[in-house]
Amino acid sequence: MIRGHGLRLMDDNLKLVPGRECGACTACCVVLAIDDPALTKPAGTACQNCTGTGCGIYASRPETCREFVCEWRRLTLLDEDWRPDLSGVLITGRGLIDEAGEDIDAYVMTIFASHDVIYDKGFATLVAVVVDQGREVILSFPAPDYSGTWEIPLRQFVAPGVAAGSLAQVGEGIRLAHARIQFKAKR
Ligand code: SF4
Ligand code: SF4
Repeated sequence: MIRGHGLRLMDDNLKLVPGRECGACTACCVVLAIDDPALTKPAGTACQNCTGTGCGIYASRPETCREFVCEWRRLTLLDEDWRPDLSGVLITGRGLIDEAGEDIDAYVMTIFASHDVIYDKGFATLVAVVVDQGREVILSFPAPDYSGTWEIPLRQFVAPGVAAGSLAQVGEGIRLAHARIQFKAKR
């Protein structure tokens, strides 16, 4: 059993990918809950300051917003198609403690649009790379109305495929995890 102890950056020293900007993406301003002295909002609701293509109070935005960047801004292995508003996948970092009591880093992949994206070859490749680095990947599915979120750690499902170097097997592991979480969500 893996338990989380809060969000944190994967590597505080990790730099942003040069030249990569948020552009017209506002996914984090909609998908994530914000709890800041200057601004609170629930997950799945556009921030009152969101213009649809950016922040209407960018220069004076709250501290929480200033400090946040999604992992797409920092992971060089992701291309432009992975921008959250284009891919429907918002990647954030989370620290975990595993069964042995060790700290491990995880990428939380919040699938906020079509679930089909997790069956793309590129998705399986990213999951395989992260797990091969000894990290966890957590699939996170918010309900369409954000009344709940279902999460499932992927490593146990894809580790055999990663060890065998088989992307097809990694894809099967993702499929199995998705089926498992869909079953839970319907109960
Ligand atoms: S989700 Fe990422 S790319 Fe999109 S606005 Fe937020 S930080 Fe920028
Ligand atoms: S204040 Fe600006 S940056 Fe922060 S959530 Fe709202 S729109 Fe986004």
